Amino acid sequence: MNEENRILFLRKELEKYSIEYYVYDNPSVSDQEYDRLMQELMTLEEKHPEMYDANSPSQRIIGQVLEGFEKVRHDSQMLSLGNVFNYEEIEEFVNRIQGSVKDVEFVVECKYDGLAMSLIYENGSFVRAVTRGDGLVGEDVSANIKTIQSIPMHIPERRHVEVRGEVYMPKKSFEELNERQKKNNQALFANPRNAAAGSIRQLDSGVCASRKLDAYWYYFQNAQDFGILTQQEALDRMRSLNFKVNPLYKVCKNTKEIWEFIQSIQEKRNDLPYEIDGMVIKLNSLSDQRTLGSTAKVPRYATAYKFPAERVQTRLLDIVITV
Ligand code: NAD
Repeated sequence: MNEENRILFLRKELEKYSIEYYVYDNPSVSDQEYDRLMQELMTLEEKHPEMYDANSPSQRIIGQVLEGFEKVRHDSQMLSLGNVFNYEEIEEFVNRIQGSVKDVEFVVECKYDGLAMSLIYENGSFVRAVTRGDGLVGEDVSANIKTIQSIPMHIPERRHVEVRGEVYMPKKSFEELNERQKKNNQALFANPRNAAAGSIRQLDSGVCASRKLDAYWYYFQNAQDFGILTQQEALDRMRSLNFKVNPLYKVCKNTKEIWEFIQSIQEKRNDLPYEIDGMVIKLNSLSDQRTLGSTAKVPRYATAYKFPAERVQTRLLDIVITV
């Protein structure tokens, strides 16, 4: 197959995988395989600019708005993240930022394998929860979100507040769910991420409640209204407003510190009660984040390091799968 045909082939394959993953929560290939094919497509598209296609999977913020929930437009776009896969690519990202920002600091956080969510509060009360959807318009899934016990319905702040984070299915909830599915002769969920996404899209919130989801909050959307200057301060403030914030993060000054922290988390990854598929590296200063801005798809001030694939034996499925 020549490179032009390979591009067409990869676009078709990736589009099919995206629909399986985002629409039906039922992927047929591992995330690593998907990421590998996407990387290959992007490399080939760079070599063949004459084959540009605005509808290529590489050009999309993937996500779909389903029927059944009210559509809500986000105040500001919910972006995805670019990916890096090794030390050298982290170094490139750091060098690029150091080229335009002085005394740079990064916050390195866990990358939860769940689904992005926005929460809105007015006058100290929860108003609504909206999925990322296609980044501009999401779905109002408030009824299901209210079943997550760790999400506050009231906060000690009367001004408008929007926080964003990740809803996930803890490993224990996932195991219990698949055990119930097995007992009832129903299809097993491929992974906690897909199980979480499927639960949030249940029209009967009783079903969602039985799935025992949880969430971590990592982004204070209107931090500027509160005079918050850094991501670290934003995390602290969210915690003081009773949002569940993961204490497992570190402020780092250079690639070496970032890499060491990533390695230390990777070592204990299997012992964490939730799935992470990588680490997110964010510029700490919020004003520098605004200066760097975003491309159409991803922010320039943050990136996601994806863990390499590892072979594991799953207890439930009793087959060897790649995660
Ligand atoms: P992504 O998974 O590469 O990362 C971006 C997302 O990370 C953000 O939108 C946010 O929701 C999340 N995130 C978690 N922790 C975070 C933190 N601490 N700070 C900021 N964000 C955090 O991007 P995506 O667009 O959600 O999904 C694309 C990925 O989905 C692909 O890389 C692939 O792995 C997977 N995928 C797999 C298939 C398949 O068939 N297996 C198909 C499509 C997509």
